[in-house]
Amino acid sequence: MTTLTKESGGLSTDGSRSFLSVRDLRVQFSTEDGIVKAVDGLSFDIERGKTLGIVGESGSGKSVTNLTILGLHNPKSTNVQGEIWLDGQELIGASEREMEKIRGNKAAMIFQDPLTAMSPYYTVGRQISEPYMKHTGASKKEARDRTIQMLEKVGIPQPKLRVDDYPHQFSGGMRQRAMIAMALVCDPDLLIADEPTTALDVTVQAQILDLLKDLQQEFGSAIVFITHDLGVISNMADDIMVMYAGRAVERGSRREVLRTPEHPYAWGLLSSMPRLGSDVGQQLTPIPGSPPSLLNPPSGCAFNPRCGFSSEVPGNRCVTDRPELPAGRGAACHLTPAQKQTFFVEKIKPRLG
Ligand code: ADP
Ligand code: MG
Repeated sequence: MTTLTKESGGLSTDGSRSFLSVRDLRVQFSTEDGIVKAVDGLSFDIERGKTLGIVGESGSGKSVTNLTILGLHNPKSTNVQGEIWLDGQELIGASEREMEKIRGNKAAMIFQDPLTAMSPYYTVGRQISEPYMKHTGASKKEARDRTIQMLEKVGIPQPKLRVDDYPHQFSGGMRQRAMIAMALVCDPDLLIADEPTTALDVTVQAQILDLLKDLQQEFGSAIVFITHDLGVISNMADDIMVMYAGRAVERGSRREVLRTPEHPYAWGLLSSMPRLGSDVGQQLTPIPGSPPSLLNPPSGCAFNPRCGFSSEVPGNRCVTDRPELPAGRGAACHLTPAQKQTFFVEKIKPRLG
């Protein structure tokens, strides 16, 4: 285990470390076509009990980041650099045995598709109670009671009966609830939710979001909530980090990022997002083009080929210099602070309705 000897990151000015602190994370895959830089220098922090929303289009490195936190990458083809501190322990240097202890116990994950996390061959109850017994040493009877209690907490009707069902006997929404029970049964301090509601219809989606919020109150876990849809986290996250091509391009409080976003990519995400309660006939403006290949990303700012504002920056800098994300609130963009404000207020905001 790597202990607190690497003092390069994750320390705030008073010397304390965030509950989860990711420092300059880089994740590269060796493929036949070359090196994929899936995550390319990412840093962020979360405190206990808080929710960080990570937003970005498909392929921006959200899932890779979070699988890396849980040590779920293939060590043979994956090169991981940087530091991941969870409650004072550095995870990139941790052994597989240590990671197994952390997964489920200290940190757990829920996915878009519960069937990837659940086995079709075992009852739902067994899949919740076995990890519980393993991590806590509880007896079979204790684990069954706890499982029924968890199923009840996540809103499964008749939990005493449903505990013996197999996953295919549950509806999609119920399976999602069961996976949440599975993730929370050991009371993890960190819950990573990777697009957990993407496959569900809007009503069930709202119920699951409410459920996660309630459970967070009760369990006090930190949540990393990953989504491609800003709308989903607009009443869920404390902080928001916007990712593009394996890097963070903007971060701030939920209010800051949603009300006064600074990065043209964040403007694009907002303009392409349907707004709750607005007219059916509202105009959505998709971001032109598609996300870049991470085998050979564009030089300078990776967003420059799709950005409508790079001509406002003198000297072709968007193509030649990669903008850095400032510490704290801010965006990785060469526009001046005044331009960021004016362009948003004059060109983007009126379209949002
Ligand atoms: P997101 O979750 O934001 O949609 P991912 O984190 O899944 O995106 O993927 C980021 C990039 O890394 C994508 O370009 C994806 O194709 C690539 N990638 C993910 N896993 C692997 C892997 N095992 N081997 C090669 N490339 C991968
Ligand atoms: Mg993903």
